[in-house]
Amino acid sequence: KTATSTNQTTRTTQPQTNEGQREEKQRAKPVTIVVGSHIWVENPVWIDGEVLNIKGDDAEIQTSGGSKVVAKLSKIYPKDTETPPGGVDDMTKLSYLHEPGVLHNLATRYEINEIYTYTGNILIAINPFQSLSHLYDADMMERYNGVPYGELRPHVFAIADAAYREMIKEGKGNSILVSGESGAGKTETTKMLMRYLAYLGGNAAAEGRTVEQKVLESNPVLEAFGNAKTVRNNNSSRFGKFVEIQFDKCGRISGAAIRTYLLERSRVCQISDSERNYHCFYLLCAAPPQEIEKYKLGEPKLYHYLNQSNCYELDGTSDQHNYLSTRRAMDVVGINAVEQEAIFRVVAAILHLGNIDFANGGDNDSSVLKNDESLFHLQMTAELLMCNPRALEDALCKRVMVTPEEIIKKSLDPHGATVSRDGLAKTIYSRLFDWLVDKINFSIGQDPNSKCLIGVLDIYGFESFKTNSFEQFCINYTNEKLQQHFNKHVFKTQQEEYTKEEIDWSYIEFVDNKDVLDLIEQTFKDHKRFIKPKLTRSDFTIVHYAGEVALVPVQYQSDQFLDKNKDYIVPEHRDLLSASTCSFVAGLFPPLTEEVAKSSKFSSISSRFKLQLQQLMEILNSTEPHYIRCIKPNNVLKPAVFENDNVMQQLRSGGVLEAVRIKCAGYPTYRSFSEFLSRFRVLAPEVLKMDCPENEACEKILVKMGLRGYQIGKTKVFLRAGQMAELDAKRILL
Ligand code: ATP
Ligand code: MG
Repeated sequence: KTATSTNQTTRTTQPQTNEGQREEKQRAKPVTIVVGSHIWVENPVWIDGEVLNIKGDDAEIQTSGGSKVVAKLSKIYPKDTETPPGGVDDMTKLSYLHEPGVLHNLATRYEINEIYTYTGNILIAINPFQSLSHLYDADMMERYNGVPYGELRPHVFAIADAAYREMIKEGKGNSILVSGESGAGKTETTKMLMRYLAYLGGNAAAEGRTVEQKVLESNPVLEAFGNAKTVRNNNSSRFGKFVEIQFDKCGRISGAAIRTYLLERSRVCQISDSERNYHCFYLLCAAPPQEIEKYKLGEPKLYHYLNQSNCYELDGTSDQHNYLSTRRAMDVVGINAVEQEAIFRVVAAILHLGNIDFANGGDNDSSVLKNDESLFHLQMTAELLMCNPRALEDALCKRVMVTPEEIIKKSLDPHGATVSRDGLAKTIYSRLFDWLVDKINFSIGQDPNSKCLIGVLDIYGFESFKTNSFEQFCINYTNEKLQQHFNKHVFKTQQEEYTKEEIDWSYIEFVDNKDVLDLIEQTFKDHKRFIKPKLTRSDFTIVHYAGEVALVPVQYQSDQFLDKNKDYIVPEHRDLLSASTCSFVAGLFPPLTEEVAKSSKFSSISSRFKLQLQQLMEILNSTEPHYIRCIKPNNVLKPAVFENDNVMQQLRSGGVLEAVRIKCAGYPTYRSFSEFLSRFRVLAPEVLKMDCPENEACEKILVKMGLRGYQIGKTKVFLRAGQMAELDAKRILL
């Protein structure tokens, strides 16, 4: 009563090379599912049960829930009955590395608040959506300090500790790449890592503000100006960040550099309902009365840039309190009182600016201020930015046109003036953000002599929405880049493990996503991953890898690409602000030298970003990487809710299953000789009596069972995908 199915490994849908196909066949070895097998069946979610009967391709199953179902053998996966009840802390300890096994393990652990699980050297972190403060307190830091990786329960501290030890031992840079979708916990994880590194490399004896204090306090400052509530996350980072922490020869923090990527500029003047603008606007509206009075501010709902959404408050946080704590954090990172005053003055100016409305100026092609209210806001904006109100009005409503004959001032219609106003707001805000980053870097200081660094990357994950624009294009490009880096690394470490055990791995290959990168960076004509959808004029589709064996087509709407790609300040805006009598404001807009002016005409957001990304990859390539994959277990942002499909999809796109797949292509399961013997001695009791060395005993069992393709290493037995299940099935039949 036996039947076979070929479902052990993750099924791939990806184009394979000829060798890849051979490889695929080779590892899709038959798995034996027999009556009595413990299995997983998808119905429609994964449930476990026992096979009662097999007829042809169908199996009758008694589920653990008490019902009976019939399923195709090809849809059934063997279940490991020897997994401990609380799950295993490393996915590679699972006997069967398939989707239901991986999911079940994570769900079991999540239920008991074990939010961290390893997959070899990758840490999977599932957002608990509740405070687990005991996990991160001083005791815990002490506990992980210097303990070899894998000895204690999986933890972010263990990853940071491993990176630090490796850096000290090898004198080489390390990096920790934190990824995951919005709300998965990247930023919280990054902060935990930074706190632990500050604990390891801090200088408790130092006087005044220490480097590590400044590094840590940079987080709340950047969050106030770069984070916002979105539908996916109440504190969503709207920029990517790479923090490079530098250490001296004694392993003490000696400097740091923060690099940021692609701040979402459009949010400054456009928000959708239930989202918010950047936190700083609401913080300022909750400032002490004397400041509100000074900036002539009112409640958030009075401002066009904030009242496009009905959401003003954030559950569980106080803007009033956060305003004061942001100010304190600014003190720590070295932003002085005068600068702080100027920063918030500029923030207030942007709110007033957004309330300047325009009406038709008599003839159809010009515009004037709509009413007295607009005049008030114009005057306030000018006062706060310390520029001339007439000049401000002109900069908003007129454009200078240079023709071969003359220079003329052309009026903008009300719509054009509004676009000009919003453009000015976005430009000022993004300059302000860049200023903050530069200032923090300057204040922390760089250590030019440092040879050791740990880089921490907190960057947006792969995105595919109903409408995908320029931002998604850049984000997904980044992810393809990081994915390539990840694949190569996972593959390399796997090889190293095999080499250590002196087993042959020469035929294992990995799939490269180089072709998508070529498509994005070079030419799209006739590229097989580029599709021009019918019925749309400006859409195009790229078939992404999204970190997984499955291909993900993402359709981009290109209509705003050109506008969003412009890295160009309207000269009238620049002239206006560089003439400000406030040195802070003028400093945000340094006058252009002729050379810069020429080159900036041709610069674009994407070309600058491509360069930044290239530099980032260079740093990453020179370091030893560590990976943390954050997972958002549900979309309701609540504790204890674990949505299987959702998690599965993230494991796929985060490359966790890709890592599993690479393992499956080789020897996904391995056991030490003694573990193997104790599990399978029943299959050949006579072997145990022979008194031969353990490795020979293992081999004898495998030969007797008729298996091929496995390898006996120096200390472990390495099995091909499916072989563990085959052996288990034979045990059941005994
Ligand atoms: P985005 O891409 O939108 O910036 P993110 O991945 O950075 O998202 P976080 O802001 O780090 O997500 O996390 C979202 C929220 O989840 C946090 O504000 C916090 O409430 C909760 N959270 C995340 N990680 C943890 C954790 N380890 N412990 C407790 N709560 C957490
Ligand atoms: Mg974040």
